[in-house]
Amino acid sequence: MKTITLAHGNGGQENNELISKVFYKAFKNDILEKSEDAAVIHNGELAFSTDSFTVSPLFFPGADIGKLAVCGTCNDLAMMGAKPKYLTCSVIIEEGFDVRSLEKIVRSMKKELEVNGAMVVSGDTKVVPKGSVDKIFINTTGIGEIQKKGISSNSVTDKDVIIVSRDIGAHGATIFAAREGIDMKSNLQSDCASLYPQVKALLDANIKITALRDATRGGVSAVLNEWAKQSDICVEVDEDKIPISDEVNGICELLGFEAMALANEGTFVLAIAEEDAEKALEILKQTNETASIIGKVTDQYVGRVVLNSAWGTKRFLELPTGELLPRIC
Ligand code: MG
Repeated sequence: MKTITLAHGNGGQENNELISKVFYKAFKNDILEKSEDAAVIHNGELAFSTDSFTVSPLFFPGADIGKLAVCGTCNDLAMMGAKPKYLTCSVIIEEGFDVRSLEKIVRSMKKELEVNGAMVVSGDTKVVPKGSVDKIFINTTGIGEIQKKGISSNSVTDKDVIIVSRDIGAHGATIFAAREGIDMKSNLQSDCASLYPQVKALLDANIKITALRDATRGGVSAVLNEWAKQSDICVEVDEDKIPISDEVNGICELLGFEAMALANEGTFVLAIAEEDAEKALEILKQTNETASIIGKVTDQYVGRVVLNSAWGTKRFLELPTGELLPRIC
């Protein structure tokens, strides 16, 4: 690794390599090494996370960079069973950026903060000369109050089943279509959404949640591979149970993408105790009919994800590699 390539930001293998070889090496500590969606701090009472947003285009079907910036950080908190409370908002704006667009972005942020019951309590603005940044980049950092302790990507066992909260890949497919000017003349739009309301509904129903992770960069494929390694388990997924919309399938066929590796911004993967799986599914279906139990945990190939096809064949689902889609979030 001599210079940084776009692949180093892919949410997959090269990205993990960059993080471990440069950042984990320097910052090494027990909290960081848990590799959770948000750090669990303050005796397990608080979740703490940060995320930067560079998406292009800034406005796209279903959301914009402002909504994304609030959902992204709040969702990482929610994935630790935390209620998002306080956010910071830091913006880097290119000279010449249109103020009306900025106001539109900030309105989107305000609306999404209300969904989470969170507020921005600190921020920073920087303006840089034309060409130093593409229009606007936003960073948000958030603190949430953990409602249920012990949810962790390091604790998945063969007593859990694997669920996805809705059909996958909509965000990645939408951004790609918008960027390439592909007019789908369809209902394809980003899944960008705040996930805390769904997490709250699961917690209120006393569902035994083992782990949660939003399937952002690297998609469902990255989440399952990370869990397989972090928890020393094998995840087996039934290919025909994976919910994929016709629109996303269309984009994948057109461009040769794997839907499992496409980014999502309002879709999460759940490891739920088997006895609670049907009940959890019922709750998730109140938000998205397409929620589905996609697989189970075994000890067949520890550290790997196995995809079982409808014809009885098996193949490994690998951690995504390569450039994928830069500036997806
Ligand atoms: Mg996450």
